[in-house]
Amino acid sequence: MSGIIKLGVIGDPINHSLSPNIHKLFAERAKIEIEYLAYRVASSNLENFIKSFFKDGGTGLNVTLPHKVDCLNSVDEFSLIVKKIGAANTLRREKGTNKIFADSTDGMGLIKGLHGAKINEIKSDILIIGAGGAAQSIIHNLQDRHPRVIVIANRTKEKIKPVISRFPPLDYDDLYPNTQVVDIETYINQWNHQGFHTVINATSARKDSDFKWCESLPIEDATNFYDLSYSMPDETTPFIKWARHQGNSSVRKNISDGFGMLIHQAALSFEIWTGIKPDTNISKGELFNG
Ligand code: NDP
Repeated sequence: MSGIIKLGVIGDPINHSLSPNIHKLFAERAKIEIEYLAYRVASSNLENFIKSFFKDGGTGLNVTLPHKVDCLNSVDEFSLIVKKIGAANTLRREKGTNKIFADSTDGMGLIKGLHGAKINEIKSDILIIGAGGAAQSIIHNLQDRHPRVIVIANRTKEKIKPVISRFPPLDYDDLYPNTQVVDIETYINQWNHQGFHTVINATSARKDSDFKWCESLPIEDATNFYDLSYSMPDETTPFIKWARHQGNSSVRKNISDGFGMLIHQAALSFEIWTGIKPDTNISKGELFNG
C-alpha cells in the first residue's frame, strides 16, 4: 500500500480515547504509514465534519459517544449489523464510488474478546446487564452464536422493551430462527429458567464505587463474567471485584474486563480500512504506559 492512510476517531469528549495509540501500534507492526487523529466534534458540526473528512481524502473514521447513532445521517450505505442495531462505530470511504459506508465492529469485537478470555461456551443462558448503546451493539453477534436465551436487565425498566423489539428471533434477513431476547422478569416468571452461565456487564456504572445490582439475579451457577468496561493495568473494575464473589465457586470461573474487546473491535476497523489483519497481541502496559 502506498501513501499515508488518513484515519481518525470522532466523539465529544474525545481526549480519553485510546484509539490513536492502538492504531499506531497496529500500523507500526504492519509496517504501514497512517495518520490517526482524535477529533472532538460537536453534534452541531457532525455532518459537516464527516463529509469534509472523506471529501478531503480520509479513508476511515471510528465513531464514539455521542455520535454512534447520529453519524448515520451522513452516510450513504450501511452494513446489515448497522441496520439492525441502528448505530455504527466504523465509517469508510468506498473506493471508486466515494460513498460513505457505515459498519459496526463492537459485536464481533466482543465475541473475539470472550474467546480471548476463554469464554468459548456461550450456548447457554446469557445475561446482559445494561440496555444502552453498547448492549445493543453486541446482541446481534451473540444471537448469531445461538445461546438458549439472551436476557436483558436494566436499571431503567422502560428502556428494555425497545431494545428487545430490535432483535426479533426471526426477520426477513435471517435464514434460521435466532435466539430469543427477553427481559429478566419474563425469564424468571415465564421460562423454565436454568440460571445464567454467562453474565456481561454493559453498564456505564461509575468506576470509583462498588458495583451493586438493584434486583436479585439467578447467577448461582454462573462461571463466565465479562465486563465491557476496562481498567488501568494495576486496577480492577468494580464489576470484576463483584463477580469474584458471585456464581459457582466450586469450578474455575472466567472473569475478564473489556480490554480484549477494545483491541479486537479496533483491529476489525483497521482491517476494514487497510485490508490488513493487525497483530492484536497488545498488553495494557504497552498501551497505557507506551
Ligand atoms: P450508554 O450511556 O448508552 O448506556 C449506559 C447503560 O449503563 C444504561 O443501561 C444505564 O442504565 C446503565 N447505567 C449507567 N449508570 C448506572 C448505574 N449507576 N447503575 C446501573 N446501571 C447504570 O453507554 P454505552 O452502552 O455506550 O456504554 C456502556 C459501557 O460499555 C461503558 O462503560 C463503555 O465504556 C463500555 N464499552 C466498551 C467497549 C469496549 O470495546 N470494551 C465498547 C463500547 C462500550 P439506565 O438505562 O438505567 O440509565
